[in-house]
Amino acid sequence: MFWDHAIETLDRASLRQLQLKRLQATVRRVARKVSFYREQFSQARLRPSHIGALADVRRLPFTTSADLRANYPSGLLAVGLDDTLRLHTSSGTTGKPKALFFSRQDVANAAELCARCLVMTGVTRGDVFQNMMTYGLFTGALVMHYGAEKVGCLVIPAGPGNSEKQLLLMLDFRSTAVHVTPSYALYFAGFLESKGIDPRRDLALRRAFVGAEPYTEDTRRKIEQALGVDVFNSYGLSEMNGPGVAFECEHKHGMHLWEDHYLLEIVDPQTGEPLPEGEYGELVLTTLCREAMPLLRYRTRDITAVVPEPCPCGRTHRRLQRIRGRSDDMLIVRGVNIYPQQIEQVLMSLPQVGRNYLIVLDGLDEMTVKVELAQTSFDGQVEHLVHLENEIVSRLRAEILTRPKVELVPPGSLPVSEGKARRVIDNRKL
Ligand code: ADP
Ligand code: ZN
Repeated sequence: MFWDHAIETLDRASLRQLQLKRLQATVRRVARKVSFYREQFSQARLRPSHIGALADVRRLPFTTSADLRANYPSGLLAVGLDDTLRLHTSSGTTGKPKALFFSRQDVANAAELCARCLVMTGVTRGDVFQNMMTYGLFTGALVMHYGAEKVGCLVIPAGPGNSEKQLLLMLDFRSTAVHVTPSYALYFAGFLESKGIDPRRDLALRRAFVGAEPYTEDTRRKIEQALGVDVFNSYGLSEMNGPGVAFECEHKHGMHLWEDHYLLEIVDPQTGEPLPEGEYGELVLTTLCREAMPLLRYRTRDITAVVPEPCPCGRTHRRLQRIRGRSDDMLIVRGVNIYPQQIEQVLMSLPQVGRNYLIVLDGLDEMTVKVELAQTSFDGQVEHLVHLENEIVSRLRAEILTRPKVELVPPGSLPVSEGKARRVIDNRKL
């Protein structure tokens, strides 16, 4: 299923030509309209005419989230405020938010890309799309909402949380698709279980679009089993219009990144140097069609790699591997580098483990991993718990090369956030 067959299957040579044309136009525009870039260009003695080939993108400066904050609120605008239509912000963790402006065309483009994503997984106008992402300043819900409407789905702007109401909507309106974070999807699955709802018997759900935070292949499988759906990985970030940047097709192996809108590079997060295709590094994106706020070589901090082979679906836009985490998610515990994803990978591969976990670091640089048990895994025998605890400790130790403490806790006892999950509590800096 294709939303725009011609562009989605455009041959690589033509796609690259289109990218070059759009890159050159973007560079010319920011040189004229955005003083931040103009100054950067003049410091580097760079002129738009120097961009003669796609590889010349490397001559352009990087843009970082610090640049977005420094130019808050409107320093990076390439159009007048009259030509902007919508504002989103991205929280980040500290300090000022990042402000992202959309022109009319940007809003339309974002919806168009989301429509491509949804249709690629088999969504049609007959679908009932329950959007369980956060509405508001966050791009996650609203941008996808427009995409689903564009396809012609019936869209239910449910927002996150309030599981009772979510269920009611699902039952009464026979929702077929949900858009949800992995942490809330797992939480909601537990809620259904506690209500005695069997999704395959009682609900009409067929697909879940899951993203906004990293998760593992095992978590995907858990959600698929618990909700009786196909889960498609969905990637985006506010700086690139929000969701709809990259999405899985029916093969569920890597996410097609829409290369007619975004120019992708994978660089070494330390040096910024490009890495060979297929190697993991930091994703860097340049907008090719953005009007209100074009960004050159934006450092996403997301760690991923390009899937080297072409996809059997026939789309020519390259795929990204599952995001391993953000370069700034990395924890250093007793001198060892650890990504929370490594811990999730170990936990979610164990059937006795439930749906939530929390990593706590204390003042002595000790790591404790709190792990919810699965509903069925406590049979009343304490020695079984001790055995499981020891097994988790030794598997984690093998993966992260340091020995954490593990604390088993009852199902549903760890905090759940409505938006993005908070997986790590670091008390070391307090
Ligand atoms: P914030 O910086 O406030 O979290 P965003 O809502 O723009 O802002 O979040 C975008 C980020 O969310 C991405 O840079 C990435 O780290 C994460 N993300 C989004 N989708 C996925 C996904 N499918 N897998 C892993 N991480 C994701
Ligand atoms: Zn494909």
